[in-house]
Amino acid sequence: MTQQQPSAAPQHATSPRVSRRFAHFGQSVFARYTALAAQHNAINLSQGFPDFDGPEVAKLAAKAAIDAGHNQYAPMAGVKPVRDAIAGMWHDAGKFAIDPDTWITVTCGCSEAIGCTMAGLLNPEDEVIIFQPYFDFYEAGVAWAGCGAKFVTLHAPRSAGEPFTFDAAELERAITPRTRAILLNTPHNPTGKVFTRSELEAIARLCIAHDLVCISDEVYEHLLLPGPDGAPPPPHISIATLPGMQHRTITLSSLGKSFSLTGWKVGWAIAPPHLGAAVRAAHQFMTFSGSTPMQHGAVAVLRDAAALAQPLVSLFARNRDVLSAALARAGFVPLRSDSTYFLMADHSALSARQGLADDEALCQWLTREVGVAAIPPSVFYADKHLGRSLVRFAFCKKQSTIDAACERLAKLAAR
Ligand code: GLN
Repeated sequence: MTQQQPSAAPQHATSPRVSRRFAHFGQSVFARYTALAAQHNAINLSQGFPDFDGPEVAKLAAKAAIDAGHNQYAPMAGVKPVRDAIAGMWHDAGKFAIDPDTWITVTCGCSEAIGCTMAGLLNPEDEVIIFQPYFDFYEAGVAWAGCGAKFVTLHAPRSAGEPFTFDAAELERAITPRTRAILLNTPHNPTGKVFTRSELEAIARLCIAHDLVCISDEVYEHLLLPGPDGAPPPPHISIATLPGMQHRTITLSSLGKSFSLTGWKVGWAIAPPHLGAAVRAAHQFMTFSGSTPMQHGAVAVLRDAAALAQPLVSLFARNRDVLSAALARAGFVPLRSDSTYFLMADHSALSARQGLADDEALCQWLTREVGVAAIPPSVFYADKHLGRSLVRFAFCKKQSTIDAACERLAKLAAR
């Protein structure tokens, strides 16, 4: 029998059939730059993932869970031991007691928690306030929900040693009768900012005054890095713990970022039952439940969270400082980062010398010609021009990876 050959598709049938809701996003910047880095053999400091494994204890526990027969659907809200471990970690951090059965929903990474929270909570006539720059999933969350968004700028510091800041009056002006929620991310990707207590109090005040929900993404909660001079890092404060916020906050977090297990996709939402209902309403029809053996594997890590994060904190603080120094020698102005996987730098002087128009041109050139991939932050801004002079580097890598990137950057300094 002769096999039928595929016929050439008519042109109209091959143009991407993407809904208006998602078409304008194009390909995710993370996929684009990780592919470009591979193509040019560049050291990949673009997408934020560690180039080493998470704790051995987690791997053993996940393998044991598979062998023990934990291979069917997890309960919709997550397996009981992982919800207990999340509640225990929350308690150990000095926060209020939560009921693991009614307050916690385990999702397929924090990404799903973001999408489900926004799709489950917001109606098309609603608006959410998002600080820019922002992790680009938040804008996709707006697309999932089909709602509106208002952006409030975290202003870049005038001096490199200062953090990004926002103006509480600007935040208040962004609130309209349609506003339902403020989306907070602390510690903050891509700036490395840890919101201070007084900043969180200003946000809380507005949430309470205007009856808003706070959606707080805290995936970098364990990665608080001491300053280059060894000064203790700013404390991470969950906005849910501020007076009046416990019953109007949905806190999101995950295993991936703090414990180098980004591929496990174990995330969660912590919320009072009336808000958790929104997350669960979407989650039950998005994935229904996350991976069962990986949730069992996560338990061992969450029970010992603070101790397991400690070696990563030392490594990442060291990497941040070495990379910052190399960037400064190469003609960038590295900005302060107190947490996360990332540091931002201003590239305007270097780009002017090289004749590069903006952050995208800089990142293309850096990946292709220098062999170090980074992210152009204009994708993290609704007002794109605000990101043009910036570049984001990930330092969540082995020491040897960062050192190799610094060697490549040193050639730039010698030019
Ligand atoms: N959060 C990671 C970053 O900002 C990447 C997430 C992703 O690739 N989707 O780099």
